[in-house]
Amino acid sequence: MSEYKKPSSEKAFGENFAQIKPLMNDTQAFYESSRCLFCFDAPCVDACPTGIDIPLFIRQISTGSNDGAAKTIYDSNWFGHSCGQVCPTEVLCEGACVYNNQDVTPIDIGRLQAYATDKVIQGKKNLFLVGKPNGKKVAIIGAGPAGISCACELRTYGYEVDVYEAKSKPSGLTVYGVAPYKITNKAALDEMAYLQKQFDFHIHYNSPITSEKDLKKLEKNYKAIFIGIGLGA
Ligand code: SF4
Repeated sequence: MSEYKKPSSEKAFGENFAQIKPLMNDTQAFYESSRCLFCFDAPCVDACPTGIDIPLFIRQISTGSNDGAAKTIYDSNWFGHSCGQVCPTEVLCEGACVYNNQDVTPIDIGRLQAYATDKVIQGKKNLFLVGKPNGKKVAIIGAGPAGISCACELRTYGYEVDVYEAKSKPSGLTVYGVAPYKITNKAALDEMAYLQKQFDFHIHYNSPITSEKDLKKLEKNYKAIFIGIGLGA
């Protein structure tokens, strides 16, 4: 057995932590999306914890409507790109794909999802509308997936949103807890920046809420408080 050596250069790091689900190119995405049977009862959707309309977004990719595909994904999951890369799809949507019953490789749903969402993120496509201001402010504690999803949702209804994050970066678990061979910090932060630019919510970094006094202050200044501090907090 060869001796383990800790990676000491960017090159060695890249070789050891190459993406387990690399992004597809256009040809791969077209080929893979064309294989989907567009099942009427789509067991892949039932197996998706966020209920994304998988056959629809795959059909949208195969017919050249990538923006539509990304919108379909984000309509159900504000972290569509991160989840496409990080989710254990082999036991979720891909594990339920009907192709498994025929001993045929299931549709590569996670990578198709990452493909469609990466295109709109890198292309800075505006897909969402902020709701008409309703004059109400909400505080969110935690800039992880739960807090940011809540912020996006509230902005579509016209709430003003301030997010209070204890750390110096957003995205919570996606940045601080997921192995880089699943998703790079850049990819996670790009999706975060994409959402923040369109929804225009404010994030206060290095701002932990740690005392009753802090909470009372939020209660005084906001209509509601959402606590999204993660299971590890
Ligand atoms: S189960 Fe498989 S083939 Fe059927 S819609 Fe879902 S991804 Fe496509």
